[in-house]
Amino acid sequence: MDVRKLGLFSVCGMSAIVSLAGLYGDTPDARHAWAVHDWNRPLPAKITAEPGQPPSDAVILFDGSNLDAWESTKRGGGPATWKILEDGAMEVIGGSGGIKTKAAFGDCQLHIEWASPKEVKGSGQGRGNSGVFPMNSYEVQVLDSYETELLPDGSNKNPNYADGQASAIYGENPPLVNACRAPGEWQSYDIIFHQPIWEGDKLKYPGSMTVLHNGVLTQDHWEMEGLSTHCRRRALAPHPTKLPLSLQDHGNPTRFRNIWIREIPSRYENTTHGGPAVNEADVLALRQKTAGELFAKANPADSNKKGALDRMLEVISYDTADQYMKIVDELSKAYIAELDALDSTAIQSRKGDVLSLKGSCDVLTRNAVVPETFPLKVAVLRIIKANDFDKKK
Ligand code: MG
Repeated sequence: MDVRKLGLFSVCGMSAIVSLAGLYGDTPDARHAWAVHDWNRPLPAKITAEPGQPPSDAVILFDGSNLDAWESTKRGGGPATWKILEDGAMEVIGGSGGIKTKAAFGDCQLHIEWASPKEVKGSGQGRGNSGVFPMNSYEVQVLDSYETELLPDGSNKNPNYADGQASAIYGENPPLVNACRAPGEWQSYDIIFHQPIWEGDKLKYPGSMTVLHNGVLTQDHWEMEGLSTHCRRRALAPHPTKLPLSLQDHGNPTRFRNIWIREIPSRYENTTHGGPAVNEADVLALRQKTAGELFAKANPADSNKKGALDRMLEVISYDTADQYMKIVDELSKAYIAELDALDSTAIQSRKGDVLSLKGSCDVLTRNAVVPETFPLKVAVLRIIKANDFDKKK
């Protein structure tokens, strides 16, 4: 149901009852297929997101019961052999090899919880080292980085290099802060990953990683510089657009639990409304399609000429094709003739409609959909002036 037909719309989040219908948001333009506050714009799909639960549209990769979604990263593959623990976690078996998802993913939102060993053994990169690799290629470091920070006296309880501590994009970018909890405590990563985009061998976009460590922003849309490795700067290189997520075996009994992933669209998939990949031909095509769908429901022959006119003004806000403009012109003439035939008392009952049409005309002219000389606007302004509709009573 079109709520506007009930005379309702939302103003700054508040429901307001008004007597007017018509255009009010800036119209579609060369880069935007939809108007501002466009009621025709598709609404997002509903999901559920209950406290402490994965979102309803997430793919569950590990819920504590089995490793069915995983296999070994070893050459030749084979089953994942990490240990399932009784508390719903899995634990790296050092030397068994990393694990990767059987399914492949591209751009994603990933939730994963991890804990470094409670009993600290080793130091530096040897304390609970593992890693989360979206697309098996870009490492968000997992490491016991508790008390890695430099103390005021210059000492350091858990020395390490900055681009290798927990939540670093390994070898590239340290976390913004060290949000690491104590050894043995459960921690979370929420990762938003966008893969690089290539046009042949030419890099169009390097991809990005945003990471929340224990709910704290530690990687702020970091644009990747390379494929993760040790010691070297390894250039980005094209790869398939879907690859498995992998977890690293670095020889330490690091634990993981509660792993889920949601595939998300790349902003480069949006070619019809703003953003870096907008394509004016795609915008125009969608505007024309929307106009066509609205025109199919516009019913210009409706005896309610104001209603028919409102619907046709909406059509031309998307597409000023001659066939639509011709109908708008005809409807405008007929409606203005109807108003001009009313006497000075009867016209008063049309004040709301006339002001509504002025509002729509204002939207169309301020967005240069039609010129200020648009005949409907000229006529409406004449009627407003002649009947003092612009004066408050
Ligand atoms: Mg690692």
